[in-house]
Amino acid sequence: MQRKKIRKLYPLTKSEQMARVRGADTGPEMVLRRALWRAGLRYRVRPSVPGRPDLAFVGCKIAVFVDGCLWHGCQDHYKPPVTKASFWSEKIARNRQHDREVENALGALGWTVLRYWEHEVEGDLATVVDRIRAAVARSRADGARIFREAGRKVRSS
Ligand SMILES: [Zn+2]
Repeated sequence: MQRKKIRKLYPLTKSEQMARVRGADTGPEMVLRRALWRAGLRYRVRPSVPGRPDLAFVGCKIAVFVDGCLWHGCQDHYKPPVTKASFWSEKIARNRQHDREVENALGALGWTVLRYWEHEVEGDLATVVDRIRAAVARSRADGARIFREAGRKVRSS
Protein backbone atom coordinates (compact mmCIF):
# COMPACT_ATOMS: atom_id res chain seq x y z
CA MET A 1 0.00 0.00 0.00
CA GLN A 2 2.68 2.40 1.14
CA ARG A 3 4.87 1.33 -1.79
CA LYS A 4 2.16 2.00 -4.33
CA LYS A 5 1.65 5.48 -2.99
CA ILE A 6 5.34 6.22 -3.18
CA ARG A 7 5.49 4.92 -6.76
CA LYS A 8 2.71 7.24 -7.76
CA LEU A 9 4.39 10.23 -6.24
CA TYR A 10 7.83 9.33 -7.55
CA PRO A 11 7.65 7.51 -10.87
CA LEU A 12 10.46 5.14 -11.81
CA THR A 13 13.71 6.73 -12.82
CA LYS A 14 15.08 5.98 -16.28
CA SER A 15 17.57 3.45 -14.91
CA GLU A 16 14.87 1.74 -12.83
CA GLN A 17 12.77 1.41 -15.96
CA MET A 18 15.72 -0.07 -17.82
CA ALA A 19 16.30 -2.55 -15.00
CA ARG A 20 12.69 -3.64 -15.29
CA VAL A 21 12.96 -4.06 -19.05
CA ARG A 22 16.01 -6.26 -18.56
CA GLY A 23 14.56 -8.11 -15.59
CA ALA A 24 13.68 -11.75 -16.08
CA ASP A 25 10.48 -11.81 -14.07
CA THR A 26 8.58 -8.95 -15.57
CA GLY A 27 6.51 -8.36 -18.63
CA PRO A 28 6.05 -10.72 -21.56
CA GLU A 29 8.11 -13.62 -20.13
CA MET A 30 5.79 -13.81 -17.15
CA VAL A 31 2.71 -13.56 -19.37
CA LEU A 32 3.98 -16.47 -21.47
CA ARG A 33 4.97 -18.55 -18.44
CA ARG A 34 1.56 -18.17 -16.87
CA ALA A 35 -0.18 -19.10 -20.14
CA LEU A 36 1.99 -22.19 -20.62
CA TRP A 37 1.36 -23.26 -17.06
CA ARG A 38 -2.39 -22.89 -17.57
CA ALA A 39 -2.03 -24.98 -20.77
CA GLY A 40 -0.57 -27.76 -18.65
CA LEU A 41 3.00 -27.38 -19.89
CA ARG A 42 5.73 -27.67 -17.31
CA TYR A 43 8.99 -25.89 -17.98
CA ARG A 44 12.12 -24.74 -16.22
CA VAL A 45 12.84 -21.05 -15.83
CA ARG A 46 16.28 -19.88 -16.95
CA PRO A 47 18.07 -23.23 -16.75
CA SER A 48 21.87 -23.30 -16.82
CA VAL A 49 22.32 -23.90 -20.53
CA PRO A 50 23.88 -21.49 -23.07
CA GLY A 51 22.06 -18.17 -23.16
CA ARG A 52 19.96 -18.93 -20.05
CA PRO A 53 16.68 -19.26 -22.03
CA ASP A 54 13.67 -17.49 -20.55
CA LEU A 55 12.17 -20.93 -20.20
CA ALA A 56 12.99 -24.42 -21.40
CA PHE A 57 11.72 -27.95 -21.66
CA VAL A 58 14.91 -29.61 -20.55
CA GLY A 59 13.79 -33.21 -21.18
CA CYS A 60 13.14 -32.56 -24.85
CA LYS A 61 15.80 -29.86 -25.21
CA ILE A 62 13.54 -27.03 -26.32
CA ALA A 63 14.62 -23.52 -25.35
CA VAL A 64 12.25 -20.57 -25.56
CA PHE A 65 13.37 -16.95 -25.74
CA VAL A 66 11.14 -13.90 -25.64
CA ASP A 67 12.96 -11.07 -27.38
CA GLY A 68 12.23 -7.51 -26.38
CA CYS A 69 11.23 -5.45 -29.42
CA LEU A 70 13.54 -2.66 -28.30
CA TRP A 71 16.60 -4.66 -27.26
CA HIS A 72 16.61 -7.06 -30.18
CA GLY A 73 15.58 -4.63 -32.90
CA CYS A 74 12.12 -5.80 -33.96
CA GLN A 75 11.25 -4.59 -37.48
CA ASP A 76 7.80 -3.41 -36.46
CA HIS A 77 8.56 -1.61 -33.22
CA TYR A 78 12.19 -0.63 -33.13
CA LYS A 79 12.75 2.87 -34.36
CA PRO A 80 16.38 3.92 -34.12
CA PRO A 81 16.47 6.86 -31.72
CA VAL A 82 17.74 10.17 -33.03
CA THR A 83 20.02 10.75 -30.05
CA LYS A 84 22.86 8.31 -29.41
CA ALA A 85 21.92 6.57 -32.66
CA SER A 86 25.24 4.78 -33.06
CA PHE A 87 25.21 3.59 -29.45
CA TRP A 88 21.83 1.98 -30.05
CA SER A 89 22.59 0.46 -33.42
CA GLU A 90 25.77 -1.08 -32.00
CA LYS A 91 23.92 -2.35 -28.95
CA ILE A 92 21.22 -3.99 -31.09
CA ALA A 93 23.85 -5.48 -33.40
CA ARG A 94 25.65 -6.95 -30.37
CA ASN A 95 22.44 -8.40 -28.98
CA ARG A 96 21.59 -10.01 -32.31
CA GLN A 97 25.10 -11.38 -32.64
CA HIS A 98 24.80 -12.82 -29.13
CA ASP A 99 21.43 -14.36 -30.07
CA ARG A 100 23.04 -16.15 -33.04
CA GLU A 101 25.94 -17.39 -30.88
CA VAL A 102 23.51 -18.76 -28.31
CA GLU A 103 21.49 -20.48 -31.03
CA ASN A 104 24.64 -22.09 -32.42
CA ALA A 105 25.78 -23.22 -28.99
CA LEU A 106 22.38 -24.72 -28.14
CA GLY A 107 22.08 -26.27 -31.60
CA ALA A 108 25.46 -27.95 -31.15
CA LEU A 109 24.11 -29.53 -27.97
CA GLY A 110 21.04 -30.84 -29.78
CA TRP A 111 18.63 -28.16 -28.60
CA THR A 112 15.80 -26.62 -30.57
CA VAL A 113 15.51 -22.85 -30.13
CA LEU A 114 12.16 -21.08 -30.32
CA ARG A 115 12.20 -17.30 -30.39
CA TYR A 116 9.25 -14.97 -30.10
CA TRP A 117 9.00 -11.24 -30.10
CA GLU A 118 7.44 -9.65 -27.07
CA HIS A 119 4.80 -8.18 -29.42
CA GLU A 120 3.83 -11.73 -30.46
CA VAL A 121 3.43 -12.75 -26.84
CA GLU A 122 1.43 -9.64 -26.06
CA GLY A 123 -0.61 -9.60 -29.27
CA ASP A 124 -1.16 -13.27 -30.10
CA LEU A 125 -0.47 -15.27 -26.98
CA ALA A 126 -2.68 -18.22 -28.00
CA THR A 127 -0.68 -18.82 -31.18
CA VAL A 128 2.63 -18.67 -29.35
CA VAL A 129 1.37 -21.17 -26.76
CA ASP A 130 0.06 -23.46 -29.53
CA ARG A 131 3.41 -23.41 -31.35
CA ILE A 132 5.34 -24.23 -28.19
CA ARG A 133 2.88 -26.97 -27.29
CA ALA A 134 3.21 -28.46 -30.80
CA ALA A 135 7.01 -28.37 -30.66
CA VAL A 136 7.02 -30.13 -27.29
CA ALA A 137 4.50 -32.73 -28.48
CA ARG A 138 6.50 -33.38 -31.65
CA SER A 139 9.70 -33.75 -29.70
CA ARG A 140 8.11 -36.15 -27.21
CA ALA A 141 6.71 -38.24 -30.09
CA ASP A 142 10.17 -38.37 -31.68
CA GLY A 143 11.72 -39.33 -28.37
CA ALA A 144 9.23 -42.16 -27.93
CA ARG A 145 9.85 -43.39 -31.47
CA ILE A 146 13.64 -43.36 -31.03
CA PHE A 147 13.23 -45.17 -27.72
CA ARG A 148 11.04 -47.85 -29.32
CA GLU A 149 13.42 -48.31 -32.24
CA ALA A 150 16.37 -48.55 -29.90
CA GLY A 151 14.45 -51.15 -27.91
CA ARG A 152 13.76 -53.20 -31.04
CA LYS A 153 17.38 -53.01 -32.05
CA VAL A 154 18.48 -54.35 -28.69
CA ARG A 155 15.99 -57.21 -28.84
CA SER A 156 16.85 -58.25 -32.41
CA SER A 157 20.61 -58.38 -31.87
ZN1 LIG B 1 7.81 -5.84 -31.97
